[in-house]
Amino acid sequence: MIQILIVEDEKPISDLIRLNLTKAGYGCTCAYDGLEAADILEEQSFDLVILDIMLPHVDGFELMEYIRSLKIPAIFLTAKSSLEDRVKGLTSGAEDYMVKPFEIVELLARVNIVLRRYHKAGQLLTFADIVVDAENQKVTKAGKEVILTPKELGLLILLMRNRNITLFRERIYEEIWGTEYSVESRTLDLHIQRLRKKLDLKDAIKTVFKAGYRLEEAHEVSV
Ligand code: CA
Repeated sequence: MIQILIVEDEKPISDLIRLNLTKAGYGCTCAYDGLEAADILEEQSFDLVILDIMLPHVDGFELMEYIRSLKIPAIFLTAKSSLEDRVKGLTSGAEDYMVKPFEIVELLARVNIVLRRYHKAGQLLTFADIVVDAENQKVTKAGKEVILTPKELGLLILLMRNRNITLFRERIYEEIWGTEYSVESRTLDLHIQRLRKKLDLKDAIKTVFKAGYRLEEAHEVSV
């Protein structure tokens, strides 16, 4: 499971982030000041840090120096909105900089982008609580492993990489089976049915009449 450290001294904001990231299938740990964060970082490993700038004891900029030395990607989430601060934040080595107030759906999207970028060439794909490690051919849903056949996995990755876009049957056959699409073939439909069942994607994988399929991102809970 992907582990995220949330460094935020305002508990309601911290709780909100943790709740939504947990729902999206991430493991979360919360630190409420800079020193506590540094202590936790010393003991546990993380895939991403989301951090505030104005923090008790050690501020976000100082903490960022330590995070950078650990080579963990980080996203600043702060009320400090001046250009100077944003530039300082990004040049300090953070992958992204978000200004409060923020929408949870945007934070989730940015978390996904940073994780994807960091795990180079999109080796780690996420959709809701589903995480696909393409390199190791491993799929988890809410942290539990789900066994897929190679074709099912290929189809899932294709859908995830093209989320919210209609994939035509012709293209899917070409990419997954390396064959031409034939009107009589139900192979694709059967694979889609199994994916929907195994990963509870009944509502997310839409059938586009006479065209193909589309994986649709549901709207996340916003602030
Ligand atoms: Ca703060």
